[in-house]
Amino acid sequence: MSSSPERPTATRPDASVVIAIDGPAGSGKSTLSRALAERLGIDRLDTGAMYRSVAWAVLRDGVDPVDQEAVAALARNLDIMVGGTVVADGIDITEAIRGPEVSATVSAVAANPDVRAVMVTRQRSWVDARGGGVVEGRDIGSVVLPDADLKLYLTASPEVRAARRSEEGAEALARRDRLDSTRAVSPLEVPPGARVVDTGALEVEAIVEQVLAWL
Ligand code: C5P
Repeated sequence: MSSSPERPTATRPDASVVIAIDGPAGSGKSTLSRALAERLGIDRLDTGAMYRSVAWAVLRDGVDPVDQEAVAALARNLDIMVGGTVVADGIDITEAIRGPEVSATVSAVAANPDVRAVMVTRQRSWVDARGGGVVEGRDIGSVVLPDADLKLYLTASPEVRAARRSEEGAEALARRDRLDSTRAVSPLEVPPGARVVDTGALEVEAIVEQVLAWL
């Protein structure tokens, strides 16, 4: 996976800090992780974009999303680069992975334990290669990086989250959250030791200041 080309000046000299951010769809993970990465001068990894890339490839190849073996094989062989853009097998899919088809398919793909094993390995390698970073997803503090320096779990009311994802629709969003929270493997949950932040109540900058104070 590629890194962001911009490396702003860190406000904290220790670039090896590891921050794990989890939460449901529309809880503000991407906005906060971008702001934190910029302030700290470290890279950010959007793990949702990785699962979305696999879902995109499932649709491209006409694979049944619940065919565990076929989807796992596809995930293993898929070259994914997540940075400022998302590129899979050399194709820029930055916009395609945000479309309704991928959003409707991704939770089934992400429930596949073999797919998760592949992605978790790649995500840990991404952090190891940098020595730190801001990583956002659903299982980062609970499974991928349980020893992160700081674990955050973001929340916001269903109304606020649906408004942030109006293009997906409140019903589709609720369905995705339900699937992500009830799956057998690595369900979305508040990781042990995580600080819970309601992003509906505060401006991004205020949350960034609070988080930096926790480091
Ligand atoms: O973060 P985003 O909404 O783009 O994630 C898309 C989907 O990817 C989630 O709904 C979930 O099914 C899956 N996902 C996951 N584990 C992660 C990140 C995302 O299962 N760490």
